[in-house]
Amino acid sequence: MPCPDDASPSRRRFLKRTALGAAGAALWPGAACASPQQDERASGREGRLPEGLPPEEQLGIALVGLGNYATGQLAPALQETRRCHLSAIVTGTPRKAKAWQKKYDLSEAHTYDYETFDQLAGDDAVDIVYVVLPNGMHAEYTVRAAEAGKHVICEKPMATSVAEGERMIGACDEAGVKLSIGYRLHFQPHHRRVMEWGQERVFGPVERMNNGFAFPIGSPEGNPAVQWRLDKAMAGGGALMDVGIYAVQAARYTTGEEPVAVTAEEFKEHPQKFDEVDETIHFELEFPGGAVGKGRTSYSDSYNRLRAEAADGWMELEPAYGYGGVDGRTHRGPMQIENVNQQARQMDAFAACIQEGRASRVPGEEGLRDMKVIEAIYDSIDAGQRVQIS
Ligand code: NDP
Repeated sequence: MPCPDDASPSRRRFLKRTALGAAGAALWPGAACASPQQDERASGREGRLPEGLPPEEQLGIALVGLGNYATGQLAPALQETRRCHLSAIVTGTPRKAKAWQKKYDLSEAHTYDYETFDQLAGDDAVDIVYVVLPNGMHAEYTVRAAEAGKHVICEKPMATSVAEGERMIGACDEAGVKLSIGYRLHFQPHHRRVMEWGQERVFGPVERMNNGFAFPIGSPEGNPAVQWRLDKAMAGGGALMDVGIYAVQAARYTTGEEPVAVTAEEFKEHPQKFDEVDETIHFELEFPGGAVGKGRTSYSDSYNRLRAEAADGWMELEPAYGYGGVDGRTHRGPMQIENVNQQARQMDAFAACIQEGRASRVPGEEGLRDMKVIEAIYDSIDAGQRVQIS
């Protein structure tokens, strides 16, 4: 399993509590400790989620690529969602098709492979196509989904280059469908607080950040999920594309600013294993307001932290980026915030955007901004010097 974001026992306990009927309260951030106004600010939404919509009013989601993330997180989250449900699957593995049909009560009519993918156009049960494929396949399947007239959620990183990202946004615009990126932390209450406190300068202007996400990727032998992550064409890059992107995101949403320059360095302890993609990268982002964001990522280490120091205080999340439970504190003490099912929130929020004609909080343009920073980080490594980000 290459991604460190496993469902932990604590998360499973939380899901069980939710399923047992904590209803709206358990699905809303800080329900046990904050006022409704604080809740709304923390969530960044204008209002509360409605109670579950009747099935006929819910949007149908087709999951594309039934790998670890779709199997372990998205499909279970779709049992918790209130505005959308799993209505179709796309897989190249017949054995998975059979198992999923049985487990999720899906018929052959709503089961596709990569050849028949475009027939989704005629499937009225599908409103949203969720691309959960290796990074190098995101652009092709996002464009094809848009051409089939479906709204799209595409996993992070949105693409393997800025050019691909622009093509994806263009295709969705042309087809008149919405594109959203799988940035689940924008729906996670600890991270919502960090965004709010950082951007509103609650502790004064943010001056320094130290964000890092790393996990030991393990051996590619017999593990297709590791194999494609070590393949440049399929992954676009290494640890930076996979998990370093969270450290880039964190720096951008803590300040609410776009970095203007970056200086980065790459390290390789295992050059044979990582002959195509990056193993470890350190970078320093400069923000127009004066903040400096140090970032680290690696496939051969283990850390998971967001820390921001402002003029009058600090805030820190650790563990920060997983879905097994985020924990946070500030100079004032622990953050008393309950964890939520991030993926259920993320998918329900996108369904609400479609139903209410609003823009996604994490549209394709948000993914593209990260791609620009990531390309600049690689440029800085290649050039061996600081580069401006345009
Ligand atoms: P996996 O390797 O576990 O799954 C990818 C799936 O894609 C495969 O199981 C397979 O499904 C399908 N696939 C189609 N063609 C290929 C191919 N040539 N090589 C490999 N797989 C292929 O990856 P993950 O689920 O971990 O990651 C998928 C995407 O989700 C990535 O973009 C990743 O960055 C993102 N992700 C996001 C997370 C988040 O927290 N937001 C967490 C983890 C991943 P099938 O057999 O059904 O065709």
